[in-house]
Amino acid sequence: MISYVEARRIVAEIALRMLGGRAPAQEIIGLGAALGRVLAARLDADRDAPPFHRSTRDGFAVRAADVANVPATLALVGEIRAGAEFTGAVRPGECVQIMTGAATPAGADAVVMIEHTEPAIDRGTGAVVVQRSVAAGANVVPRGSEAKAGALVLAAGMRLGYAEISIAAQFGHAAVAVFARPRVAILSTGDEIVPVEATPGAFQIRNSNSYSLAAQVELAGGAPVVLGIAADERAVLRRKIEEGLAADALVLTGGVSMGKYDLVEAVLGELGAEFHFDAVAIRPGRPAVFGVCRGKPVLGLPGNPVSTMVTFELLGVPLVDVLSGAPPRSLPLVKARVRHAVRKKAALAHFLPAELGWENGEAQVAELAWQGSGDVVALARANCFLLVPETQLEFAAGDWVDILPRRDRM
Ligand code: AMP
Ligand code: MG
Repeated sequence: MISYVEARRIVAEIALRMLGGRAPAQEIIGLGAALGRVLAARLDADRDAPPFHRSTRDGFAVRAADVANVPATLALVGEIRAGAEFTGAVRPGECVQIMTGAATPAGADAVVMIEHTEPAIDRGTGAVVVQRSVAAGANVVPRGSEAKAGALVLAAGMRLGYAEISIAAQFGHAAVAVFARPRVAILSTGDEIVPVEATPGAFQIRNSNSYSLAAQVELAGGAPVVLGIAADERAVLRRKIEEGLAADALVLTGGVSMGKYDLVEAVLGELGAEFHFDAVAIRPGRPAVFGVCRGKPVLGLPGNPVSTMVTFELLGVPLVDVLSGAPPRSLPLVKARVRHAVRKKAALAHFLPAELGWENGEAQVAELAWQGSGDVVALARANCFLLVPETQLEFAAGDWVDILPRRDRM
């Protein structure tokens, strides 16, 4: 059985092969709707940033040499507010009052903060007394020091977060070319599964997976296409799967275990699917399968809701990343001290619902009580998964462990 690390690698590699060296389709969208989208074309700086030598303080533009010995009295020869042009120059013994964000004048090479000066008004001289020396360049960001005109500021394949959106705005890109979000078909399977709107019979289960998966697909940057429920019958499954193969990828839940009515793999096989793995050394989620069917990547996830969620986080996110035209994100594992001893028996990587908090500035994590892979109520109390790897199944209280944050909660 392969590890989740290997499974993630395979998913990303096969998804890349599916693209066949072609980039996903592109569209142009307004910057206001670009959060989370993946840039299809590089963005360049249309001008220097900053576009002029910019003062970072309210104060006085000076020649640093003039204030080497303090206190130093300088003649005040003008004022520059943000957005204004100053045509004069600061000559030896002079200064100009300047506001944050304004362009420093010719002749000046530093800005003294207003807090380090005193107006010499009482003497009626139009002069300023500087009480602290500054080095040349102090409180000034030189023109072009953040980016030069024409330089690449965002590469194609970058996902647009709030900082990237700000950069696009700063350099005048009100609309950007992004890759189309991959359409991910979601199919829930199981005779016992009924729509959320229906009143379930005593032994029926509401279809929560289609909703949670749609949320995970969206969070990952994909466009969910919810296909509803397929019964555990070959003909029905076949029809629904074929419908799902019209999307860019198909994710199924349920029907991948060893039960008599777990037919997903068999039906995919009949449709000509080639499987790359049909089990992963994880709990929950061991029976997850991945294959390619009629040129589309297909992920079959176990139906228990927490299994579905864990397997999508591990295997679905890299799939959506690659189909989005982005590099697959690494798993954001971070270290925390475990509050209580943890011990698992099965030689699998365990992903346990857990609560991460901070005490005395240190990350601490506690495993939550849960009823196993169907227990979403417990998962809703968790903000992360505690990872117990198959290479170390036992931890003492206070040991460092890896945790996987729930990306929707942290
Ligand atoms: P399976 O993987 O098909 O053996 O399903 C395991 C269990 O997961 C089932 O007994 C259901 O309780 C639950 N389950 C399966 N599909 C769904 C679904 N779409 N929504 C909620 N729970 C599900
Ligand atoms: Mg089932």
